[in-house]
Amino acid sequence: MSDSGACAGAGVCASVVPTRFKLVDGYGEPIEPEVEPDDQVLLAANLCPMGALRVTDAATGELLAPEDD
Ligand code: SF4
Repeated sequence: MSDSGACAGAGVCASVVPTRFKLVDGYGEPIEPEVEPDDQVLLAANLCPMGALRVTDAATGELLAPEDD
């Protein structure tokens, strides 16, 4: 999930994991709304400088990344 209001368009997500994130009108968006929380997706969420990417367990709502949120 991405928060376009928080996204600064730094492009880290699309650069680090271009198979999962893209830039749309300068803002990062996931290519698919639900994906497996693999290491690359978690890494992108943890590297986003704005904390605009939140990876949650679709079943439980548990926050998986960013770690320091
Ligand atoms: S890394 Fe974060 S701030 Fe940068 S484009 Fe992606 S969502 Fe936006």
